[in-house]
Amino acid sequence: MNTSTSPSLPIPPGHSTAPPLPRIAVLATGGTIAGSAPDAANTSGYQAGVVGVDQLLAAVPALSAVARIAPEQIASVDSKDMAMPLWTTLGQRIDTLLATDDVDGVVVTHGTDTLEETAYLLHLTVKSDKPVVLTAAMRPASALSADGPLNLLNAVTVAAHAAARGQGVLVAFNNRIHSARDVVKTSTYAVDAFQSPEIGALGWVQDGRVEFQRGVVRAHTLASEFTLDAAWPQVEIVTSYAGVSRIAIDALVAAGVRGIVVAGTGNGSIHQSLQQALADAALRGVAVVRSSRVGSGHVMRNGAAADDALGFVSAGSLNPYKARVLLMLALAAGHTAPAALQKVFDTY
Ligand code: ASP
Repeated sequence: MNTSTSPSLPIPPGHSTAPPLPRIAVLATGGTIAGSAPDAANTSGYQAGVVGVDQLLAAVPALSAVARIAPEQIASVDSKDMAMPLWTTLGQRIDTLLATDDVDGVVVTHGTDTLEETAYLLHLTVKSDKPVVLTAAMRPASALSADGPLNLLNAVTVAAHAAARGQGVLVAFNNRIHSARDVVKTSTYAVDAFQSPEIGALGWVQDGRVEFQRGVVRAHTLASEFTLDAAWPQVEIVTSYAGVSRIAIDALVAAGVRGIVVAGTGNGSIHQSLQQALADAALRGVAVVRSSRVGSGHVMRNGAAADDALGFVSAGSLNPYKARVLLMLALAAGHTAPAALQKVFDTY
């Protein structure tokens, strides 16, 4: 029974009272989600980044009930070959789209190999609080039980959801929603290939339902000082291991790198020959950041190495690949002294 006091007007045929669906831009960059193999049972001998965005979307008819999709093919690369100029193109395009009233959120389809680097780069540079969600797949589009279509549907579902706003850049993968800062690839083959070690996912998405279970604490997007308009400084990563020599460090310094991230053992401890080479590099003005090769946990400042005395910076809980992203942005923004860089690593 209608208990309303105002007269209810009949709805003309073809019209709905429901608000229009959110408008989500889907930016495709390639990866296994756009991969194709000679037969459906083949999940490793395929070519990444060959299926176009229109075909990816056509495989997921359910998208039309979730959002109005605006597709764009930004690139068609295997993300092992991701490079900084493409990061600049992608980030600037996202900013342009999100600055308009026509776009409510962005989904980026990407390869899994470097997804955690691109996601963190965007987390630190996108200038909007509208949702940006990356997704990918472990099996090519041609495979039996391909995981890409559901990951894409879930990513659009998250990007279209009001609760995703202001959370920074997100990764929707295998029903989980991760923060770009925390997420890492942890399997070479499994469909459940992404984790946020120590800290866990932010939430989950399933059957159209989105639930966040925690928020993001560190600064990102609108609260980040970083932009994509400066030149990329050369920053490389070296690893500490039994018997490592100083050859790589000396070669990098001679080549003029601006920064070196060391993937140390344990709590960012460094073999003594490597540590001496890094101390020499720091004296010559190269930024040296200590991370860990372990894959979870954090590196304590002045813990396994005397950062204050050696002029080193601790990466905290960032893995070496994410630490490199932050170090490049920080150097490009003019932070060069160890104390200033440590402040950056304590903030983002
Ligand atoms: N090599 C692929 C890529 O990163 C792997 C993947 O997407 O799963 O583009």
